[in-house]
Amino acid sequence: MKLAYSVEPVLGSVWICPCGLLSKGATLVPKVQVTNGLTVLFPGPGDLGYDLLAMAFWSLSRMEEYGVVSRDSFGRFAAASSLFYRNGSLEEPVLDAGLALLYEALGLTVPSAFSIQPSIDIDIAYQFKGRGVGRAAGAAIKQLQYTQRRIKALLGGPDAHDPQTTVLPTLKEHPKTRVFLLANKRVNTFNKQVRRQFKPFQEAVKDLAQTGLLGLHPSVQKRGAEIRWAEEKAWIEQTGESELTHSRQHYIHFSFPNTYRQLIELGIKHDYSMGYPETPGFRAGTAYPFAWYDLEKEEATELILHPFCLMDVTCKGYQKLSVEGSIELGQLLKSRVRATGGEFGFIFHNESLSDSGPWKGWRRVFESWAHDG
Ligand SMILES: [Zn+2]
Repeated sequence: MKLAYSVEPVLGSVWICPCGLLSKGATLVPKVQVTNGLTVLFPGPGDLGYDLLAMAFWSLSRMEEYGVVSRDSFGRFAAASSLFYRNGSLEEPVLDAGLALLYEALGLTVPSAFSIQPSIDIDIAYQFKGRGVGRAAGAAIKQLQYTQRRIKALLGGPDAHDPQTTVLPTLKEHPKTRVFLLANKRVNTFNKQVRRQFKPFQEAVKDLAQTGLLGLHPSVQKRGAEIRWAEEKAWIEQTGESELTHSRQHYIHFSFPNTYRQLIELGIKHDYSMGYPETPGFRAGTAYPFAWYDLEKEEATELILHPFCLMDVTCKGYQKLSVEGSIELGQLLKSRVRATGGEFGFIFHNESLSDSGPWKGWRRVFESWAHDG
């Protein structure tokens, strides 16, 4: 069976009628329809009852995030502004479901390669260690309840968030896990990595780089991002003696098209920021990695975007879910990805892997999400 993308039906073909979005430079606000429980965009004539190709282009290019859009206090596009969220379909990979039905209509088998893509961000490598004297004293006064553990850690005892005991053993057990390291030079409200001069930190960077799984976690920057990110990347590459080509934005802080253009400029080939920090779900309607299309330049790029649909902080902080609730949500989203293929991408932190303090019990959540079953 062939596919006809044409105004008139073609005999012996599955017919999709163009709604006009794919004409050069066209922008349309999609109409939404729920057909047989499936959310579709651009309903109209044709065998499928909607323009699936327009829906794919609209969703993957992230057309709704361009131009004047409402942003949260950090300047990010908020999930609540997105059509899939407003329509109640954000927690389903709706585009993948539509494509699966098209494959079926064409008599093809869905190339449903399912995989699990765990990832870990290291925003602050240690709970107590690696600060300058002033910063350590300031934290000590603010968090008196940790005094004993802090003194022990500073005297050379264990530090609960140490990447050597949280992240590296996890990479051994789950060798596909990607790690993203924040390497800001100066500390400010958003970027609080420990001091670069701290020897155990440098050693951890080396050990992480050796696994081949280390990526960049570009600091939050309002201005001068290019210069700072290039410097951060160079420091990690020099310390870890390896080249970085994978990246995820700290705080999922990005906007179209500038952030991705800057990442391409830096030599990044894979980005893992396609999701929302405040709510679970499929930001682009898909769980499959896809190439970023620069809508302003009308240009295909080679930067591959890997969606994630779930994060530790989303569950615990934003959604106030328990350990059990987070495990359940992970199982639900994983089963949806498994049904139509793609990567079940999720984010943890070295802190949440420590299974201590406010993150007691969360190691079990990681194991559950990472478990292929
Ligand atoms: Zn971060």
